[in-house]
Amino acid sequence: MMRLPLFEFRAPRTLEEAARILDGEKTNAMPLAGGTDLLPNMKRRQQVPRTLMSLRHIQSLSHVELGHSGARLGACLTLADIAGDPRFRNGLTALAQAASVVATPQIRNMATLGGNICLDTRCNYYDQSYEWRKSINFCLKKDGTTCWVAPGSSKCMAVSSTDTAPALMALGARVRLVSRSGEREMPLSELYNNDGIDYIKRRPDEILAEVVLDSLQGWKSTYWKLRRRGSFDFPVLSVAAAARFSKNGVVEDARIAVGSAACRPLVAAEAAEYLQGRPLNQETIAEAATVAARIAKPLDNTDFDMTWRKRVTAEFVTYALRELRGDDMRPVNLLLTRHQ
Ligand SMILES: Cc1cc2nc3c(=O)[nH]c(=O)nc-3n(C[C@H](O)[C@H](O)[C@H](O)COP(=O)(O)OP(=O)(O)OC[C@H]3O[C@@H](n4cnc5c(N)ncnc54)[C@H](O)[C@@H]3O)c2cc1C
Ligand code: SF4
Repeated sequence: MMRLPLFEFRAPRTLEEAARILDGEKTNAMPLAGGTDLLPNMKRRQQVPRTLMSLRHIQSLSHVELGHSGARLGACLTLADIAGDPRFRNGLTALAQAASVVATPQIRNMATLGGNICLDTRCNYYDQSYEWRKSINFCLKKDGTTCWVAPGSSKCMAVSSTDTAPALMALGARVRLVSRSGEREMPLSELYNNDGIDYIKRRPDEILAEVVLDSLQGWKSTYWKLRRRGSFDFPVLSVAAAARFSKNGVVEDARIAVGSAACRPLVAAEAAEYLQGRPLNQETIAEAATVAARIAKPLDNTDFDMTWRKRVTAEFVTYALRELRGDDMRPVNLLLTRHQ
């Protein structure tokens, strides 16, 4: 049985108190939300914070504001809250779909939006027990000096495996980060680095407090996920797409994001730009899918063959855009679930 290392536990009741604790602890503390990723990581000694600071007693982190002018979602909303709430539809469908395919129902009851956005990167050589990792002399990401995926590389290329971040990026989300020295808001697309170790720009003294969305009235969105098991599994490729159409079916605005194909979720800006002012027909969808797929750079460090994952990226973009156009994609979805 894997046991947790010893740690000090703090449970602040307000965001100010939490910011004070993180400020005092510097890099020794980590925020704990649902704990569905951090606690297993601690058992495997991938992360060994001296102090765990629970966010679950801070009521202001669990709010939902959904109105005509946009949405503000507290970081401690659970994924089950989001997946099961009928208000997360139409423009917000991609987020509800992404939340509903994370892990299992039990995990979604604990797992939070903030934890999913801040999720550690993953790799076949890293997501292993301490003893397994020790037997290969660890790796660059933790306790070692060599990257076993690319031994000549000085950079870790562990994969971003968050489901909600690509969906939120397609929705144009921003995040609000709070620390003792103040707060800042930034587009979610700017929160990540393409680096498996230093994957997030959140400073250790910052708490991700909320996700902010502009009005998505008139938008449609969708999320497509590739995983081995249809019941539950981490994504090994995902595509989120959102679009607003004119009355005659021309794309007025669009955003496409590709997940689990690099150390960070990627924005397919060129493909989205290409679609603007065009209808979604076979030709434009095929062109956008080809352009979007170019940014995917999967490596051989997660499930499924990397060249195949690269190849099916265009197909997943096609499925997403066809769904936005109004095609009935249930047969494709069913086929994929069975196949997976
Ligand atoms: C069997 C299994 C299957 C899984 N499948 C999936 C999957 O399919 N897709 C997927 O995306 N994930 C999956 N996960 C990973 C995990 O369950 C989810 O990503 C979950 O959303 C993490 O949220 P959490 O609240 O539990 O985060 P925690 O484990 O509490 O924290 C995760 C990280 O985020 C930091 N953090 C949390 N909240 C904040 C905050 N507000 N501000 C700053 N930092 C914060 C923590 O310090 C930690 O570094 C799976 C996990 C398991 C065990
Ligand atoms: S990509 Fe390389 S350094 Fe990063 S976790 Fe995998 S083996 Fe380790």
